[in-house]
Amino acid sequence: MECFAVPDLPEIRPGDDLADLIADRVALEDGDVLTVASTVVSKAEGRAANLSAFPASPRAREIASRLEDLTGEEKDPRFAQAVLEESTELLMDAPFLLTESRFGHVSVNAGIDRSNVPDHDLLLLPKHPESSAERIRDGLLERGIEDVAVIVTDTCGRPFRHGQRGVALGWAGMPASRDWRGEHDRDGRELGVTVQSVVDELASAANLVTGEGDDGNPAVVVRNWEFGDHDGSNELFREVEGDFVRQALRQWRFD
Ligand code: GDP
Ligand code: MN
Ligand code: MN
Ligand code: MN
Repeated sequence: MECFAVPDLPEIRPGDDLADLIADRVALEDGDVLTVASTVVSKAEGRAANLSAFPASPRAREIASRLEDLTGEEKDPRFAQAVLEESTELLMDAPFLLTESRFGHVSVNAGIDRSNVPDHDLLLLPKHPESSAERIRDGLLERGIEDVAVIVTDTCGRPFRHGQRGVALGWAGMPASRDWRGEHDRDGRELGVTVQSVVDELASAANLVTGEGDDGNPAVVVRNWEFGDHDGSNELFREVEGDFVRQALRQWRFD
């Protein structure tokens, strides 16, 4: 398996056709997986925004001032407002904002990014990354590129471990996970629980090439990796009912 960057992509602007820009720069092959950083998907979808578009509600002002008291850092209540508007649930409101986004992804500050965003204060995540991945894949299909899976990624922190890594937000043309249950280990023991989140693992591998700074490599091709003849599933984001960590976190919420 190899991962390599799509070369020479320009600064992405609202309305840009990512499938075209990518297909013009790399000869994609059947079986490739294409990862695309949500940053450029958001730019193409016009998701850059200014704080002035988020006049703060009383709740946002309260959240921001509490964060300011706790952290000693200045917090713009309009930023808290943007996070609230992008989210369906506020899981933690101190010492940082942990929310569930409208498409089901739990992250700090609703994944709103302030790096690699020229001319605007903020970059919101794509509204529905699965649809974004499907659109890119459809664009490739229109150009006769048939069998390429697409993963829209973001860089995320994680509980329990230091360091950020790439994760999948939306995908098309492949299942999210490979189900190992029913397969066997080296001693012939049947596996009972392992479901491998292949879209996250591919996103992480590709993110090594993507980088986090001024690399200019938002799209990466993963070649010679095969899902193989296995059961798959499309579930990635846990349902609240079975998510005991999330349930435990709720007790830390102030409101
Ligand atoms: P995120 O992980 O989706 O939040 O995106 P990052 O901010 O980490 O950026 C991912 C990669 O895309 C880095 O290599 C950036 O330098 C690059 N990048 C960000 N915006 C653009 C752009 O408009 N054009 C190009 N060519 N690269 C970009
Ligand atoms: Mn960024
Ligand atoms: Mn990001
Ligand atoms: Mn990143």
